[in-house]
Amino acid sequence: MKIAQNLRNLILVLGDQLDARSAAFDGFDARMDAIWMAEVAHESEKVWVAKPRIAIFVAAMRHFRDVLLGRGWRVFYRALAAKSAEWSGLNGTGLPGETFAAQLASTIAQTHPERIIIVEPGEWSVREEIAAAAREAEVPLEIRTDRHFLCSAEEFAAHAKGRKQLRMEYFYREMRVKNGVFMDGDKPGGGEWNFDHDNRESFGKEGPGLLPAPRRFLPDKTTREVLAMVSARFASHPGELEKFDWPVTAAQARDALDDFIAHRLPDFGRWEDAMWSGEPWLYHSRLSAALNLKLLDPREVLAAAERAWREKRAPIASVEGFIRQILGWREYVRGIYWRFMPGYVGRNTLGADQPLPPFYWTGETEMNCLRHTLRQTLDYGYAHHIQRLMVTGLFSLLLGVRPRETHEWYLAVYVDAVEWVELPNTLGMSQYADGGVMASKPYIASGKYIQRMSNYCVGCRFDPAERTGPRACPFTTLYWDFLLRHEATLAKNPRIVMQVRNLQRLTAEEKKAVQKQAAKVRKSSAAQATGSPAHVLSGFADAHGARIQKIIHAPARAPAAFGYSPEPTTVPSNQPTTKSKS
Ligand code: FAD
Ligand code: SF4
Repeated sequence: MKIAQNLRNLILVLGDQLDARSAAFDGFDARMDAIWMAEVAHESEKVWVAKPRIAIFVAAMRHFRDVLLGRGWRVFYRALAAKSAEWSGLNGTGLPGETFAAQLASTIAQTHPERIIIVEPGEWSVREEIAAAAREAEVPLEIRTDRHFLCSAEEFAAHAKGRKQLRMEYFYREMRVKNGVFMDGDKPGGGEWNFDHDNRESFGKEGPGLLPAPRRFLPDKTTREVLAMVSARFASHPGELEKFDWPVTAAQARDALDDFIAHRLPDFGRWEDAMWSGEPWLYHSRLSAALNLKLLDPREVLAAAERAWREKRAPIASVEGFIRQILGWREYVRGIYWRFMPGYVGRNTLGADQPLPPFYWTGETEMNCLRHTLRQTLDYGYAHHIQRLMVTGLFSLLLGVRPRETHEWYLAVYVDAVEWVELPNTLGMSQYADGGVMASKPYIASGKYIQRMSNYCVGCRFDPAERTGPRACPFTTLYWDFLLRHEATLAKNPRIVMQVRNLQRLTAEEKKAVQKQAAKVRKSSAAQATGSPAHVLSGFADAHGARIQKIIHAPARAPAAFGYSPEPTTVPSNQPTTKSKS
């Protein structure tokens, strides 16, 4: 292979920067510049990344490499194989070391670029790592603004300046005006800023009925090679690949957008918060991974949604609700991330100190809602917002799991997980570990919320209306226990004080019983994994000393019980129960 000579700019492209119109390529001259892309195992091992997430990143990277090569551009590309790794466009295999820093150092040593160029990475530690490697090699590093986003870190800082409290709603309105999105002159489209009052219904007993199946993208040859590599190299990682059908090219991402706008956007708002067993997609867009890998431009997504309303193909509440997610929440969480990092990741306002339950990595739990959400997560690398917030996130919050462990789990398992978006959602919105930067109150609820919004409780061996006793729903027990544990702090928050006041309805004995049962739930949640085939979990330390879980197969064990000793239940697990709706 030829060693590059006379290299002016070495353009780094990371796995979540697959945008052919990116600022990284401004001024690119094929005669003097080259592109650097590297698959490194460390990125899948610093947290215990699930197979679907590894696969989508690597498959999309390889397709993007081919687009760049098709332009006749020089691309230095490092591909992982089952046991090794190989550079193309460069000599040899590079230095040993499965990190960006090691591989970048080796490329710099071979190619002697005058300058390194990169667009802002999506993770603080990656930015630091690359900056350190460039410093070490004494090559100037130019970090360019990421034009993918509508709000830069500087604009967000200007928005935040002088505000005692940040709230998404005000940010979102500013963004609409500034960018002229969904506006009628200087008024919001449809006359109101927010149509959430018309959204968020549950399906009721009759269920969702026939659902429009989303467009699938069956793996082509390149993706199949990636799936084989991931299965072999990351065999011990969680998650499955059989159902992998994510868009991995810009063209596929656009197809996925068209499909969503035509078939699911009209009902998106109405069923945004509803959940149903065996139905992972419902009316959601499945666009987050394509957006976060930068295969899709958010402006295109916003324009397509707005057009659907103007052409009367989708109702205003759905369209506004969807635009709010993309232009509001997505840009807002990025602003929060860059404003509060690097300290943000270490926050733990509520002093949560429990380990993440091992069953988060297997889905093997008796709690129906968690079992469905976790299995779906491991099978597809996907759960929709309310499953993440009000099932997996809620349980972790109520249980009092260390926020860093919860964060590392979310970063590992979802195909759309990149730290700038995952961390504020997990640590801030879902775990309230930032003390109210992201959310004005902790999102807490008892099992009755899950009962109202899904069919998970039907057939569950627990009863969401019970907070103590053998059939008590662990969510309900832990909800009351959470109020008791944090009563003093929560009572100062006007947005949640009404929930806290409900504690007055409990006698001292009832409170004691709740706490006793919660202690048992905590104990059984921390126990070893359950089910058949069972797994034994052992912790090991990653490079930063954070504990992550490793599962190895082991003989079957008895299922762990929640809050009581295992005994036969009178409710068969597949029979509907007669629980009342709250
Ligand atoms: P839809 O329901 O169709 O929503 C449309 C789009 O809006 C999404 O594709 C996404 O780009 C955007 N969006 C919606 N809500 C949010 C939000 N809260 N923050 C940012 N963007 C949003 N989203 C990620 O993209 N990556 C993550 O790692 C991630 N981690 C999360 C962790 C927790 C604990 C929670 C509560 C939410 C997280 N989210 C994350 C936000 C949201 O759950 C996902 O964006 C959404 O479920 C993706 O599915 P979808 O594309 O079908 O979204
Ligand atoms: Fe989940 Fe409780 Fe409902 Fe069971 S009863 S599905 S544990 S909320």
